[in-house]
Amino acid sequence: MAADVTRPTNVLESALRQLDDAAALIDLDPDVHAKLSKPRRALTVSIPTHMDDGSVQVFTGFRVQHNMDRGPCKGGIRYHPCVTLEEVTALAMWMTWKCAVVNIPYGGGKGGVICDPHAMSDRELEDLTRRFVSELIEIIGPDRDIPAPDVNTDQRIMGWVMDTYSMQMGYSVPAIVTGKPIAIGGSLGRAKATGRGIVFVTREALKTRAIPIEGARVALQGFGKVGSAFAEIICDLGAKLVAVSDVSGGVFNDGGLSVSDLRAYTLEHEVIEGFGGGEPITNAELLALECDVLVPAALENVLTAENAGDVRARVVVEGANGPTTPEAHHVLVDRDVFVVPDILANAGGVTVSYFEWCQGIQKLFWSEREVDRRLEGVMVNAFHEVHECARRLNTDMRNAAMALAVERVAGAIAARGACA
Ligand code: NAD
Repeated sequence: MAADVTRPTNVLESALRQLDDAAALIDLDPDVHAKLSKPRRALTVSIPTHMDDGSVQVFTGFRVQHNMDRGPCKGGIRYHPCVTLEEVTALAMWMTWKCAVVNIPYGGGKGGVICDPHAMSDRELEDLTRRFVSELIEIIGPDRDIPAPDVNTDQRIMGWVMDTYSMQMGYSVPAIVTGKPIAIGGSLGRAKATGRGIVFVTREALKTRAIPIEGARVALQGFGKVGSAFAEIICDLGAKLVAVSDVSGGVFNDGGLSVSDLRAYTLEHEVIEGFGGGEPITNAELLALECDVLVPAALENVLTAENAGDVRARVVVEGANGPTTPEAHHVLVDRDVFVVPDILANAGGVTVSYFEWCQGIQKLFWSEREVDRRLEGVMVNAFHEVHECARRLNTDMRNAAMALAVERVAGAIAARGACA
């Protein structure tokens, strides 16, 4: 299951402000700006679900398709008690930019169901998922809109999505969903793709500061799916993980922590607390550590106006979505910290989802090595395109990533010859 996080209620406002800033930077056509400020389609559905006690509970679900000018919509489905249509709309918009920045041929979409999956049985969750997919059947499809896992949804749920859609079509449609089990067409390399992608952009960011990756000191917040894969892969390249934290607190070792020992410990104890391979530190201390790279890979809004001035890392790579508030971002940039923004840094996951979709459509499968090699090509290329855009527009990497993404979507709209 993904991190149990919620976004601030003004999340759509933030997304629109980011679009406005990018539009100003690239002098975006006002008609295109107006179009991109609204989702193409937003569907709200009721999902009657048979509960284990014999009652029927009617849940509310959403699917928002922000844009499909560059290709079908792509984006996860989250199950959370606080999901709102506004939040899903903002997340769909961010998916448009994320896909555009790494130049994969998708637009952005997102889905959500207001529910508490931790309070539901597997059978109830399956019933809810299958009914939700039936309600979306008219608007999703391998060439229209391809869902994926997000907060509190996983590969098992994606298996039910694939099965429900396929049953309605009358034949197997693996390309309807990504992040599904390998047994029904999931991709090798998907599980570690986001962490691996973060390693590739970290390596490129370090080069811009002439810091060799061998021996680079890394501090990492979050040791879940993303953080643990990142830690393992960057240490294989010779970097030194000096600190790591999770919801329980953190651990520091100036000589470097053993990722395999950390993995074994967290597998057994679920959290880092009590790990004996270093000194305990708090999350706040970790963010302020003297190091080369800081990777927030847990939650949003952890770097704020209050603590951004304490950051002593020379490079910050945003593994999590939205870990830096806009105020904190300005503090970091003013202090000459090189920030790799989330829409670029953690796009490895959606990139390998794209590879999974390609494999499903072609009905042929790539080796893990092939998946990793192609991922490296996409991430390294995207990093340098954003870096070049930052130079061209005389701005930072975050503004550049947004500007490049919006430029690409606007370019697709222009090439299609229509703004409608
Ligand atoms: P996860 O649930 O597997 O791991 C989350 C980690 O964050 C855990 O180690 C948890 O203990 C830690 N954490 C939770 N609350 C914390 C707190 N208050 N302080 C410090 N640490 C805390 O989730 P994940 O899939 O690794 O996702 C992490 C982030 O990356 C999220 O922002 C997610 O949206 C983003 N992301 C994930 C993917 C993906 O492929 N999984 C892709 C893109 C972006």
